[in-house]
Amino acid sequence: LSFLRVISLFFGVRLVTYFLSDQVSYVWLHYVNGSLWDVAGTVLLAGFTLHLLYTSYSAKVEAPGTTPLRLPSVVVRSLMPSFLALVNLMLGLLILRVSIPLAVGAISISLVCYVARTVLLQAQAAKEKIVLQSRNKQLEGLAIRDPLTGIGNRRSLAEAYNRLQTLADSKSLSILLIDIDRFKQANDSHGHLHGDRVLISLARKLESVVADVVGGHCARLGGDEFSLLLPDVSSAGASTFAEELRALFAAHACGVEDGSVSLSIGIASLHASRDLPLETLISYADQALYRAKLQGRNRVEVQPAWDPATAAADSTVPLQLELQRIGG
Ligand code: GH3
Ligand code: MG
Repeated sequence: LSFLRVISLFFGVRLVTYFLSDQVSYVWLHYVNGSLWDVAGTVLLAGFTLHLLYTSYSAKVEAPGTTPLRLPSVVVRSLMPSFLALVNLMLGLLILRVSIPLAVGAISISLVCYVARTVLLQAQAAKEKIVLQSRNKQLEGLAIRDPLTGIGNRRSLAEAYNRLQTLADSKSLSILLIDIDRFKQANDSHGHLHGDRVLISLARKLESVVADVVGGHCARLGGDEFSLLLPDVSSAGASTFAEELRALFAAHACGVEDGSVSLSIGIASLHASRDLPLETLISYADQALYRAKLQGRNRVEVQPAWDPATAAADSTVPLQLELQRIGG
């Protein structure tokens, strides 16, 4: 291989020398500078070009992704066959006078190599583009998933809410904010891993609930707080959903045998207004959740239907202060 490299270097240098001494135009017009050395050189170069073309292709096919990408070597590897094909083409022109069939063969091989190389590079680029697109999709998926439970996160909730906002025909919408009661204590007494299992099993439950609601979405907002977005469900319907969920959780406690873990749920609903920011809707539902906590936990509280005028005067701060005051 290194011998062939030396040969190709030799012929490359030879051509460059011709070029520098302004002989190329002369060579191309009269073919007088060809020699028998060029015949052997052309055959070797054509073979070497084909060999490089084959090995760079088969290396890619046999070990995709295992070859470390070192930029200079990648550039050299991809440019080398094209460069050699060019050298071979020029040598083919040089030996036209010595042997026309050999020269035609060499020129044809050069052109075939060049075209094959271009096609391979295009195919490679298309394949890499597909791989990149699928990796991007995977990353996008990861960015909107909660890693522990596998359900959506706050970002996915925002996306689902934005999608609903663009729908003109939906009537009402409800959001449930769900928080596990005294989860810290459960963690302390049963261990963090057990706590994780409770979170996962609650997420599975929410998934099964939301599967029955067209356009519904469940997400983990963080810690032990979850949300359920229910389009075309009134506050009464959402309250029924929430009661069933709370009772189910209290009965089976999603794996907590002593029943010490329960759910507090706050509900906020919208009639038709879809231009309300999600954060406002969440903080509105949060008020109901705080009320549920204040009133002893393990209960569902429903906010009155959203009214921009009264909502502006309302605030979660007094409830938060009250919670802190009583140590909730
Ligand atoms: P409250 O009834 O007022 O909600 O009391 P709480 O103990 O549940 O308090 P809070 O909701 O503020 O605390 C959430 C706890 O959830 C804090 C932390 O110990 C626990 N937690 C947060 N993330 C995880 C997690 O990924 N796994 C586990 N096992 N526990 C978590
Ligand atoms: Mg909690």
